[in-house]
Amino acid sequence: MLKIFNPSTDKLITEVETDTPESVVSKFELAKKAQKIWAKVSLDEKIEFITKFRDLTIKNKDKLAKILTSEVGKPINQSINELNGLVGRIDFFIENVKKTLENESILVDKNQHLEESISHEPLGVICNISAWNYPYFVASNVFIPALLTGNSVLYKPSEFATLTGLEIANLLYEAGIPKDIFITIIGDGKIGASLLEQNLNGIFFTGSYPTGKKISELASKKFMKVQLELGGKDPVYICDDVDVKSVAEAVADGAFYNNGQSCCAVERIYVNSKIYDTFVEHFLDAVKGFVIGDPMDSKTYIGALTRKELQITALEKQVEDAIKKGAKLLTGGKRFEHEGFYFEPTVFVNVNHDMELMKEESFGPIIGIQKVNDDDEAISLMNDTEYGLTSSVYSSSKERSKNILSQMNSGTVYWNCCDRISPRLPWSGRKNSGIGSTLSTYGIQAFVQPKAWHLKG
Ligand code: NAD
Repeated sequence: MLKIFNPSTDKLITEVETDTPESVVSKFELAKKAQKIWAKVSLDEKIEFITKFRDLTIKNKDKLAKILTSEVGKPINQSINELNGLVGRIDFFIENVKKTLENESILVDKNQHLEESISHEPLGVICNISAWNYPYFVASNVFIPALLTGNSVLYKPSEFATLTGLEIANLLYEAGIPKDIFITIIGDGKIGASLLEQNLNGIFFTGSYPTGKKISELASKKFMKVQLELGGKDPVYICDDVDVKSVAEAVADGAFYNNGQSCCAVERIYVNSKIYDTFVEHFLDAVKGFVIGDPMDSKTYIGALTRKELQITALEKQVEDAIKKGAKLLTGGKRFEHEGFYFEPTVFVNVNHDMELMKEESFGPIIGIQKVNDDDEAISLMNDTEYGLTSSVYSSSKERSKNILSQMNSGTVYWNCCDRISPRLPWSGRKNSGIGSTLSTYGIQAFVQPKAWHLKG
C-alpha cells in the first residue's frame, strides 16, 4: 500500500493500493489491445470525450483543488489557478489537433502519374510518468494530445500526487474515455521502472534530471520515442533601466510562487550594479510580506514543501554551503516552525558560481542575488549552467533585451516576465533540462509518426 501524507501536517490522509510488476504487465497488454480500437474512433468523438473531461474539471474545481492542496501542500489559491490554467491547455489542444493530424498532399504529378503525401499515425502505447509539482499541467500536456491522436496511455502519477492522479482518471472515465485506454499505474519509482520494461512505443517523462538520465539510459536499449522534461536553474537579469520596485515584486513572485517548486521558477537573479542596492531592498520587502501557513487558508502564499526528506535536506545543504563560501543571508535560512514540512523564504546576496545555490536546482523557497557590471557579464553568467529551460530579462528596452535573449541557450526566453507557460508555445528544455517539446503544435506532433505515401498509377 502507498501511504499518502499531508505535508502541511505530516498526518496520514489515506493508503492506496499500489501496482506490482505483474499488474503492470497485464495493464500494458490491455492498453496494447485497446489502442487498436481507439485509433479507429473518430477524432470528433475523441474531442467530445476530452471536452466533457474539461467541463468536469470546471464543475469539480473546488473539490479537486482541495485534494491537490491536501497532498502536495500547495496554497489553495494556487491549486485553483492550476485548474483554471488546465482549461486553457485543453482548449488549445482541441482547437489545434485537427489541422495537425490532417493528411498533407506534397506532390500531384499528372504526367508521371505520381502522388506523394504524408499521413499521421499514433505511436501506440505510451507512458506518462509524472512529477507532483503541477500534476494537472505536467500530466495533461501528455495525456490530452496522446489520447486525441489515438494512443493509449499508461499514466503513472507521482507517488506524491497520487490522489490527484486517481481523480484525473475517474473524470476521464466519467467523460467517456475507455478504462483500457487510459490506465493508472500506482506506486513509486520502482513501479515506474517496471513500466519501462514493457514494449512501449513512447516514454513521456516529467521529473528530475537524475531520474531523467536513468530513464534515457534505459530507453536507449530499445527503439522508442523518448521525451524528457526535467529541471532548471533559470536565470533572470535586471537591467539598470527598469521600475525597480515593480520588477523586484514580479521577480520575487517568479522565485517563490508554489514555494519555488516550479520547473521554470526563477533560480538565479543577476542585477545591474547601478540599481542593485535598491533592487535588493524592494525584493526583501516583497519576500518579508509573504504569508506562510496553512495551505487551505486562502491568504497563504507559502505553503508546505511536498517532499520532506529530499527537499528540506537539500535546502539546508545549499544554505550551509553558501554561508561557508561567503554568501550573506538576508532572511530565512532555516525550517519554519509549523507542523509538517516548512522552510522559511530565504534570500542570499554576495553569491557566486562556486556555490551550489547558483548551480544546482534548488526547487524550494531560496534564491541568490548576484551583482553584475554590465550586460556582457550577465550573459556569460546566465549561460554558465548545465541546464537550459528558461531565461528572462527585465528592461525598458525591447531591443536590448532581445539582443541578450538571442544569446541564451534555453528553450524559452522572457522579456519583462518570467515563470510563465503558454499552451500556444513549445515547452522544451536544452542540455540537462531535457529533450523534446510539449504544448503548441509541436506537442501534438510528438504523439504521432509520419507515414510517407508514394502512389503511382
Ligand atoms: P522525480 O524524478 O523524483 O520523479 C518523477 C517521476 O518519476 C515520479 O512519478 C517517480 O515515481 C518516477 N520515477 C522515479 N524513479 C523512476 C525510475 N527509475 N523509473 C521510472 N520512473 C521513476 O521528480 P519529482 O520530484 O517528482 O519532480 C520534481 C522535478 O521535476 C524537478 O526537477 C522539476 O524541475 C521537474 N519538473 C520539470 C518540468 C518541466 O516541464 N521541465 C515540470 C515539472 C517538474
